[in-house]
Amino acid sequence: MKRYDLIIIGSGSAMNIIDPMIRANPKIRIAVVDKDEPGGICLTRGCIPSKIMLYPAELIRSMDEAEALGIDIEIKGVSYERIMKRMRSLIDKDIDSIREGLSSSDNIDYYQAQAEFTAPYEMRVSGDTISGKMIFLATGSRAIVPQIKGLDSVTYHTSDSIIRMQMKKLPASIAIIGGGYIAAEFGHFFSALGSRVTIIGRNPRLLPEEEPEVSALTKREMEKHMTIMTNHEVREVREARGRKTLVAVERESGKTAIVEAEEILVATGRGPVNDILHPEKGEVKTTKEGWIQVNEYMETSQPNVWALGDADGRYLFRHVANYESEVVYYNAVLKRKVRVDYHAVPHAVFTYPEVASVGMKESEATQMYGEGDVLIGLQRYEDTAKGEAMNAKDYFVKVILKRDSMKILGAHIIGPHASILIQEIVNLMYSSEQDARPIQDAMHIHPSLSEVVQRAFGSVMTPAEYRHVLAHDRLAPGE
Ligand SMILES: Cc1cc2nc3c(=O)[nH]c(=O)nc-3n(C[C@H](O)[C@H](O)[C@H](O)COP(=O)(O)OP(=O)(O)OC[C@H]3O[C@@H](n4cnc5c(N)ncnc54)[C@H](O)[C@@H]3O)c2cc1C
Repeated sequence: MKRYDLIIIGSGSAMNIIDPMIRANPKIRIAVVDKDEPGGICLTRGCIPSKIMLYPAELIRSMDEAEALGIDIEIKGVSYERIMKRMRSLIDKDIDSIREGLSSSDNIDYYQAQAEFTAPYEMRVSGDTISGKMIFLATGSRAIVPQIKGLDSVTYHTSDSIIRMQMKKLPASIAIIGGGYIAAEFGHFFSALGSRVTIIGRNPRLLPEEEPEVSALTKREMEKHMTIMTNHEVREVREARGRKTLVAVERESGKTAIVEAEEILVATGRGPVNDILHPEKGEVKTTKEGWIQVNEYMETSQPNVWALGDADGRYLFRHVANYESEVVYYNAVLKRKVRVDYHAVPHAVFTYPEVASVGMKESEATQMYGEGDVLIGLQRYEDTAKGEAMNAKDYFVKVILKRDSMKILGAHIIGPHASILIQEIVNLMYSSEQDARPIQDAMHIHPSLSEVVQRAFGSVMTPAEYRHVLAHDRLAPGE
């Protein structure tokens, strides 16, 4: 049996910890095990490839809007093949350099293989048994494929197969099952490139994790380029002569809708991948859904076995996985007692329009503090000089504050550069007071979009007043 100081399963965010560990202990022996290409899902089939694909889509949509600004542009052609090849070549370069780094290190044995526990601190890898004094489980997550009659008998894609370029050419039409951020981002991508896209989601809202008015405006804008069927459940899929037919049922009325498409993408969420690992044999407890159970210090139920990233099922984002890898480093290696803190986990959806959010939603804030102690700030892009210059109609910044202290509780942005604009708010949410006043007091460059954020904090109202504004506005979720 090969013995290691540390075994790492999953070569994504856990790789952050390796260099400091080797610097601290140049003799350390580490086994890194990953059954897939090295670099983890974010690099190999998640955030990075999808965003390389989405940037051209964003350019196409911005060019569509140029006419309103006085520019006549004609896009002569868009090459799906070139966009995909560029994506592959960029990520392959990074994958190769990670493989090279893992394979050439004197401290690391790199196994491209599946790992499973055989006993506490022991694992089977490529037919060998290895043991580790310490184990980091960073196994990620996988696409959930729902039980739909006939789905098994047709060819369909998940984000994995699209990014691995198993979809050979741009489909004339694509049906996307699911209404979350992966469905919405791929819907944006394929429609911008020229496919006829139909998104079919079970939830009454597109992007159900967002504020209702953000979901509604995203749907309204995206519907200009595709069909979005919310509150519909796909019950059956059939294939004949290369055409796929999806039978969906409207969940309230029970009415049946038929969608035909050349390709199907299943984007119905992500689930645990820990069944392969057999954590029970390592006496590592899992949640009832199968995620690795961790406490506030990222420890599993087994001493010296730690889990991080998607594997714990809490927030499935790479920046959260990176943050958790730091917490594991502090606690497992430096023996500190650092608690995880998720009060300001941001995320963005790279659709057109872009969406970004951090912290509490309005309903969560009013539930926690009561309506009387919550203020809502709203500012539209178009009511600032830069927003008007950009013709950014209807897009907005919504902020949620605690009335007595002006503490920032959450923020939600829809519109150009939402993912960048929100960062100013996220940073303040990490300050000790989490006080909004520095944003109000600081000079903001005029005329820049950052003024939208500043003014949202300067135009606060009670939740009742906010509801009144929404009810008489184009932003009303019902519209
Ligand atoms: C299409 C898509 C787009 C995304 N976009 C974004 C985005 O824009 N921003 C963002 O923050 N997040 C995004 N994500 C999520 C992000 O990819 C994950 O949160 C991140 O990869 C989690 O990192 P991790 O370190 O937990 O594990 P991962 O990087 O997922 O790595 C886990 C690795 O462990 C391997 N593994 C699992 N079990 C075993 C085993 N038993 N033996 C050996 N190897 C094993 C897996 O094969 C995998 O390679 C996206 C995900 C997808 C699918």
